[in-house]
Amino acid sequence: MSRKGGTVCVVRGCSSRTGGDTSLFSFPKDPVRAECWLRKCNREDLLDKSVDALHRNFKVCEKHFENKYITQAGGTRKHLFQQAVPTIFPHGSKHSLELEVDNSEERPKKVTLISGE
Ligand SMILES: [Zn+2]
Repeated sequence: MSRKGGTVCVVRGCSSRTGGDTSLFSFPKDPVRAECWLRKCNREDLLDKSVDALHRNFKVCEKHFENKYITQAGGTRKHLFQQAVPTIFPHGSKHSLELEVDNSEERPKKVTLISGE
């Protein structure tokens, strides 16, 4: 299966593709980390792919990695550190949305004490 126009980021809702301004990173060849990336990206549907197939055909773009995981040392190409895991999903995933609850105005005004006997 070959696609014209480059490889698209596996994150749903993300339209980054190779050949543009955004760097895309191949899946790690370590099966444990590859599985971790898939789960973070909410792409459990790809878990049955071999690590080799993932590495060759699927990529995650730099937008999903914190800066601390990306290095550009020694050249123009960006690289990921070994332990990098995608954690940023601006398009919303079921995981991150639940965390964005702003309840600062819902502080209890008083505590009702239920007195015993
Ligand atoms: Zn992306």
